Amino acid sequence: MKTAVVIGSGMSGLCAGLLLAMHDYKVTLVEQHSRPGGLLQRFYRKAWAFDTGFHYCGGVAHEDILGRILRHLGVHDRLTFLPLDEDGFDRLRFPGLEFRVPVGVDRYRARLKDTFPHEATGIDAFVDALEGAVETYGLCQFNAHIDRERLFEVERMSLRAVLDAHLRDPTAKAVLAGQGFLYGVPPSEAPFGLHAVILHHFLCGATRIRGGGEALANALSQRLGELGGTLRLRSKVRQVLVDDLEATGVVLASGEEIRADLVISSMHPRTLLDCIPKTAVRKVYRNRVREQRPGLACMGIYVGLDGPPQGLANCNVFRHRSYDLDDAIRGISETEVPLYFATAAAEGRPSRGAAPSNAVMVNVLLDYERVEAWRGSQSGRRPPEYMALKRRLEGVVLEALFEDFPALRSQVMRVESSTGLTNEFYTGVPRGAMYGHYHCVGQMGRYRPSQIIRIRHFVQVGQAVFTPGILGAALSAYYGTGWVLGLETLLQELKDC
Ligand SMILES: Cc1cc2nc3c(=O)[nH]c(=O)nc-3n(C[C@H](O)[C@H](O)[C@H](O)COP(=O)(O)OP(=O)(O)OC[C@H]3O[C@@H](n4cnc5c(N)ncnc54)[C@H](O)[C@@H]3O)c2cc1C
Repeated sequence: MKTAVVIGSGMSGLCAGLLLAMHDYKVTLVEQHSRPGGLLQRFYRKAWAFDTGFHYCGGVAHEDILGRILRHLGVHDRLTFLPLDEDGFDRLRFPGLEFRVPVGVDRYRARLKDTFPHEATGIDAFVDALEGAVETYGLCQFNAHIDRERLFEVERMSLRAVLDAHLRDPTAKAVLAGQGFLYGVPPSEAPFGLHAVILHHFLCGATRIRGGGEALANALSQRLGELGGTLRLRSKVRQVLVDDLEATGVVLASGEEIRADLVISSMHPRTLLDCIPKTAVRKVYRNRVREQRPGLACMGIYVGLDGPPQGLANCNVFRHRSYDLDDAIRGISETEVPLYFATAAAEGRPSRGAAPSNAVMVNVLLDYERVEAWRGSQSGRRPPEYMALKRRLEGVVLEALFEDFPALRSQVMRVESSTGLTNEFYTGVPRGAMYGHYHCVGQMGRYRPSQIIRIRHFVQVGQAVFTPGILGAALSAYYGTGWVLGLETLLQELKDC
């Protein structure tokens, strides 16, 4: 039996491990943290459940790619899906305007045209272009073939360029680009294809999962165990063993060696460079990875309430301070919140019987530089200055939230928060980048980070080498293991299940 070591138990690592276990590999999945899931983790305080890096996903029906993936991996029927409001799962709030994004491309198109009738022609052209761009993303369309030139083309065009080509009204353009927080790049730098593929996924059907990302991580981990795989927690990889440009295993921080025929890594590519011999990759690759612009960090504010959050129970809110979206995707300051994303947990802590969703999570972008000075401090014991900064920023964000949802002010029972340092600690991602990579035009398309590098029997997976979101992470696992198992084989299995 062949053996594989998978580094990291986030969505990508779990999916890759499962795919290999389903194809007769003896899989050992090693995770630095004490719990599986990476960004899928949630944490609990009293009766409240707070999700960290997963709140909702797109279509999970049989005809949708994520639905089919979850079936193929054997976990779909172990999860309970809680669909968001079909008539407005994402609410895009701007000064004087709220646009409710409905499920379904046709409904989305129709609502846009109702809201901006003077832009009807441009909206049609834009939505057509969006659908055309999605077709270039092979597996999303159940197609193993990728026309690389077309893919490069849709990732070379910026979202701003496509908006400007088809529309004139800045309000309509802002609405069309209003969910950019989902990939963390402003329209002038966001690849149009990336915007298209992520938005399209959610338009297919937006849903929370009962138990949040933790339920997903647990279902995937359990299934891995059933297939004979082993999940080893508190097992940080400090070195990937490379012998004559071939990966042969890993060395853990404890010094233990695990030998394997195949190594899959969901570590950030930059972190990987510190774990492999210098000569294992070409200088040009090393320099490119080191010089990449890092993705933006974020701050999470977790609010425990005394009852269900009015106005947020069944939808997400993207609140923009202005219509200038190129100015919105940036860190908050102590006086200004250009954009926040707010959502509610699917439910409370199961063991406390708290069925209703009494928690709200608010995410904002926060420049890593704001917290970098405390990088060396211990998580859970950060100095008072760091805590004071967090309190001030929490206050600014909550004021913005209460402005929009005044009833919440009197409901607040508890507030917690995290920063890029928290993300860096829990997932090992450099500079706490929320989506790993800065997925901008200059770093996608032809310049996408590579899943396959010079080291044989070694594959990279994860959002930092693919696209953000649990769908992107799962797809990276299909493409990554597809190099070993055959992408056509995996696709056929996906189609058959
Ligand atoms: C605030 C926030 C909100 C989000 N909301 C959503 C959402 O609602 N819907 C959605 O689809 N996506 C969302 N995302 C994105 C989504 O969470 C990610 O795209 C996805 O979970 C990434 O999975 P991954 O496997 O690539 O990385 P990770 O989840 O980061 O997993 C990497 C794993 O590798 C481990 N690791 C790293 N280094 C080592 C090492 N040396 N040894 C051993 N283990 C190691 C880490 O501990 C971690 O467990 C959100 C992200 C953020 C930050």
